[in-house]
Amino acid sequence: MNTLEAVGDLRLTGLTKRFGSFTAVDDLDLTIPQGSFFALLGASGCGKTTTLRMVSGLEDPTAGRIYIGDTEVTSTKPYKRPVNTVFQNYALFPHLNIYDNVAFGLRRRGVKDVKKQVDDILALVELAHLAKRKPTQLSGGQQQRVAVARALINQPQVLLLDEPLGALDLKLRRQMQIELKRIQTEVGLTFVHVTHDQEEAMTMADTIAVMSAGRIEQLGSPEELYENPATTFVANFLGQSNLVAGTVTGKEDGVITVDTHGVRIALPESRSRVESGAVIVGVRPEKVELAAGNAAIESGRNALPGGVVTDASFIGVSTQYLVKMPWGQELSVFEQNTGKEIYRPGAEVTLHWDATQTFGLDGSQDIEAG
Ligand code: ATP
Repeated sequence: MNTLEAVGDLRLTGLTKRFGSFTAVDDLDLTIPQGSFFALLGASGCGKTTTLRMVSGLEDPTAGRIYIGDTEVTSTKPYKRPVNTVFQNYALFPHLNIYDNVAFGLRRRGVKDVKKQVDDILALVELAHLAKRKPTQLSGGQQQRVAVARALINQPQVLLLDEPLGALDLKLRRQMQIELKRIQTEVGLTFVHVTHDQEEAMTMADTIAVMSAGRIEQLGSPEELYENPATTFVANFLGQSNLVAGTVTGKEDGVITVDTHGVRIALPESRSRVESGAVIVGVRPEKVELAAGNAAIESGRNALPGGVVTDASFIGVSTQYLVKMPWGQELSVFEQNTGKEIYRPGAEVTLHWDATQTFGLDGSQDIEAG
C-alpha cells in the first residue's frame, strides 16, 4: 500500500464538481507551487471544501484533472495519493495516547521501528512531554497539533487543512496560526489551508486564492490582494474599502481623472483596471485622513468635501469614523491616534488621501459585493 512518489507543484486543470444541476466548483485552473503555504479563502458555500475533497480523493470531479508534479492523480485512490488532510474536528482516536495516535499511520503501513519518527514529529509540534496523555487530557490547541503530527507522519507531499482552527477561541487561533506557519516552514511541504477568515489567510499564506461561487476571483500574495484588489468582491472581502462610483474623464501622464459625484479624483493608471467609461474608485480606510470643514487640501492628494461624521469609535491605536457623504453613501476612515484632533458626530469634514493610494475597478460591478 505504498503512496505514489509524486513530487512537485499541485496543479488543477478545469476542475469542476456538479451536484445535480448545481455547480459547486466551476472550471478551476490553479497551480500551487511545491513548498508553499496556500490559502483558499471564501465565504461559506463557495466550494472550498469540495475543492479539497477532490484533491484528497474523497470526492470525484465531474470534470478536470489533478496533478502532483508530472503525475496525474485524478483517479488515484485516496490512500495512494501523497496527500493528507487535517480536519477541524481533529478525528483523534480517544482510546489511544498521543504517541500511539501519531504512530498509528506508520504501524498500519507495517513500519516496524517507529520510535524515532514519532519522537521527531512530536518534537516538531512541541508535544513530546505529553506523549503519554489521552486526547481528552489535552487542550484544543494541543489536540490540533496532534492532528497535524498524525497527518505529517505519513510524509505526504501536500497537507490539506480544512478550517483546522475553526473550533479554537480567538487567542488560541492566533497562536496556532503562527505555530502552523512555523511547522510549514520547517517541513517545507505544500500546505493548502481552507478558511473563511481573511485575517487568518493573510497571516499564514504566501498565496491566497479568493473564491466565490465555485470560481477564483483573484489569486495573489496577501499584499497584492490588499493593495490591488481586482474586483469589488475582493476589495470588500479582504479588509474594508471605500468604493465610490465615477466616470473616467481623461488620462494624462499615467494619471486617469475621474468624476465622482461632481468631484475630480486622480487615479494612477497603474492601479486601475479600466481606462474609460464607468469606474469604481477605491481607497482603504486607513489611507484616508480627515480635515475640518471645507479645508484646502495640498496638491497630490484627492479630496472629497462635504462629509458629516456619523460615528467616531475610539479603539486605542486608532479612531474609526463613519462619514456620510452628500450623495448619501457612508465612508470609513481609520485615523491613527497620534494626538490629532478627534472629530465628533455631526462634525463637517473633508476626506483626503495621497492620490497614489487610489485604485480603480470596473464600474459595471456591484459596489456592495462581498
Ligand atoms: P463552508 O465554509 O461552509 O464549508 P465551502 O466553501 O467549503 O463552505 P463546500 O462545502 O465546498 O463549500 O460546498 C459548496 C457548495 O456545494 C455548497 O452550496 C454546498 O451546499 C454544495 N454541496 C456540497 N456538498 C454537496 C453534496 N454532497 N450534495 C449537494 N450539494 C453539495
